[in-house]
Amino acid sequence: MIRKRIALLGIYHETNTFAPEATDLGAFHNGFWLEQEQILAEYGGGNHEISGMAEVIGQIGALSLVPVFYAYATPGGMVTNEALETLLSRMFELLEASGPFVGILVAPHGAGVSELHPDMDGYWLHELRSRVGSEIPVIGTLDPHANVSSLMASGTTALFPYQTNPHLDQAEAGRKAARLMVSILLDGKQYEQTLLQLPMAISIEQQNTSEDPCRSLLKYAEELRGAFNLQSVSLLLGFPYADVAEMGSAFLLIYEKGNTDVIKATEKLLDYVNARLETFNGAKTDIYTLIPQLPGLEKPVLLLDMGDNVGGGGTAASTHLLEAFDEARLSRMFICIYDPRAVKTLEQNPALPFSLRVGESGYEVSVVSSRLIDGHFSESTPKHGGFVNFDMGQSAIVATASGQTIMLTSLRTVPYSLQQLLSKGLKPDDFDYIVAKGVNAPIAAYQEVCKNICKIDTPGTTGADMTRFDFLNRRIPLFPFEYD
Ligand SMILES: [Zn+2]
Repeated sequence: MIRKRIALLGIYHETNTFAPEATDLGAFHNGFWLEQEQILAEYGGGNHEISGMAEVIGQIGALSLVPVFYAYATPGGMVTNEALETLLSRMFELLEASGPFVGILVAPHGAGVSELHPDMDGYWLHELRSRVGSEIPVIGTLDPHANVSSLMASGTTALFPYQTNPHLDQAEAGRKAARLMVSILLDGKQYEQTLLQLPMAISIEQQNTSEDPCRSLLKYAEELRGAFNLQSVSLLLGFPYADVAEMGSAFLLIYEKGNTDVIKATEKLLDYVNARLETFNGAKTDIYTLIPQLPGLEKPVLLLDMGDNVGGGGTAASTHLLEAFDEARLSRMFICIYDPRAVKTLEQNPALPFSLRVGESGYEVSVVSSRLIDGHFSESTPKHGGFVNFDMGQSAIVATASGQTIMLTSLRTVPYSLQQLLSKGLKPDDFDYIVAKGVNAPIAAYQEVCKNICKIDTPGTTGADMTRFDFLNRRIPLFPFEYD
């Protein structure tokens, strides 16, 4: 029997249009650039969406999955034209060489912005559609931080965002996409998808799906899915740090062709959200308000640096919390800061103690001990992002005269795995305060060791108050902007 072949491909980037540094080809080479069998070597059997897709298709004797191309760069600034054009021409070259296919599985992020194409994912999904024709199913996953455009919805048959934040159901989203593919190819079913853009952008601070308001919103969506016999009703939290027309929260509804009840479901979702808009705004507490309460909390305390959220395109180099702690004479903090220049200085092994400038502000610390470490580590259990292998580049750990521990890295690194500390000989219990440069994602890794969790409104390109950013292209009206 000849198996029907399904291609697997993706270009994955979450773009912060307020971040100063562009995302170039080098950023994708430093991230993941995987071709053909390299894709399943990295993600087969894990908790990534690609893991889930491979698992489902692998169990169907009549189908085979053909991995083609997958590229990922750490969230950051606008994707350069050169990077996007190079990625696309390589992806389509490999697609052409390895076809023909009866279906395409795709794994975009959904919040990509390139210099030339503000709706980067809509652009490449349509390019893909124009190459493979309108007849074959193109089905995929999304990160729920996608800002979904009508071009993305019309360029695909169906898209399944992960439904948890921290993202722990990535493999399950991949399974849903693959199962729909099977149902179309082998059972002859036909599906449609409707995009419902909501009149709000959910504050990043309110995006934890195991807490309200998102927990109840997801429960309500699931009730509607059942009541109207829909295939899926998925929430997109949205990514507030992109000045694009599709910025904001949304729902994607997938249903068998001809089910007109979808209109009733979208009306009910709109009514629900409009009646509760203010619950989707965050508390926005700054560090100076929080400091007096910190000594009374059980340790270690996880401090979430919302303004320098690496997973949202932050620079990973803010020293705001470090400076506030030194000023308040609070010690025993762990913080990781991206600073390749400081690492280079430490490689020269200067005599102790010495003063070192760290981070984007060049904040001066007095180093009393220092050691270089290898930047690689890996994570074996499901955590946000579904990553297995991490690379911080050449790195170092220093202790300061003020009693803080700083990990300095040569590559921007997302704080999604405790192995970042454990594999380098650091015990979370040895600290009173652990800074993670993120909002919800790091909680999946740190909640098992931290007794308290504080979200802090800090300055930076991922600040908690989106109304402080200058938007020229977002849709209007949009909560919390046009609201009083
Ligand atoms: Zn996300």
